[in-house]
Amino acid sequence: MSGVRIGIDLGGTKIEAIALGPSGAELSRVRIATPRDYEGTLRALADLVASVERAAGGAGPVGVGIPGTVSPVTGLVKNANSTWLIGHPLDRDLERTLSRPVRVMNDANCFALSEASDGAGAGASVVFGVILGTGVGGGVVVVGRPLQGAQLIAGEWGHNPLPWPEDTERPGPPCYCGKLGCIETFVSGPGLELDHRHATGRAWSTHRIAEALSSGDEGATAAYRRYVGRLARGLATVVNVLDPDVVVLGGGMSNLPGLPEDAQGALASWVFTDQARTRVVRNLHGDSSGVRGAAWLWPADA
Ligand SMILES: [Zn+2]
Repeated sequence: MSGVRIGIDLGGTKIEAIALGPSGAELSRVRIATPRDYEGTLRALADLVASVERAAGGAGPVGVGIPGTVSPVTGLVKNANSTWLIGHPLDRDLERTLSRPVRVMNDANCFALSEASDGAGAGASVVFGVILGTGVGGGVVVVGRPLQGAQLIAGEWGHNPLPWPEDTERPGPPCYCGKLGCIETFVSGPGLELDHRHATGRAWSTHRIAEALSSGDEGATAAYRRYVGRLARGLATVVNVLDPDVVVLGGGMSNLPGLPEDAQGALASWVFTDQARTRVVRNLHGDSSGVRGAAWLWPADA
């Protein structure tokens, strides 16, 4: 069968592989726990590819999404929280192991590519895909192609400072990147938990905050309103530079009921236009976006 593409989502706890047909239909899928060493990971990836291809009845090029990037300077993996990948030429080693071309890209870019290709951003020229999870990342897709940037940091809005801060938001919580008050420290899951704890004295998980929100709890509702306002301010600076047709929200926080609609409404007061038309939507493919986007790293006719 021609036109098959293989996508792999190489996460810290699991590795998932799928085979997509020419139209983007899923032909097969396999998921395993991630080995905690580099050689084991390479072997597991080879086995996974063989297994999804057997089930799909065809072979094709391989795209891999990783929580990090392959440095254009050294050719080695950097910034990965799966630390055993760091310092290895993952793409070249995989090409040798699999005897075929392999593309490796940051998982936030894969998310954005998946949603731009046949997800919530399908048909839009410029898509900004946002991850709101334990961390905050993002990816930009322009006319179907991921925009990586000269230093592979395009879309990394989470480490910009929170814009238009109120006095209570200055200087902001410390970020692991070494700065204070990064957007990530406010609109990640831990960011919401911290804000809620400061305001209410309750050390609740995001899950518990979400539950309390649905029953109208005052503290949770106030924390959510602050969260929406901060998310909108953070997105507004991206919109002013990039002016995407659509912002697609992903990651665990994107499941908060009403968040895309509320963020879109709040965004209008911060964007530099009197008629903001930027759409903010929830992702379509959920947890599958990473692995589907990895497969989309190769066009259907590759
Ligand atoms: Zn930071």
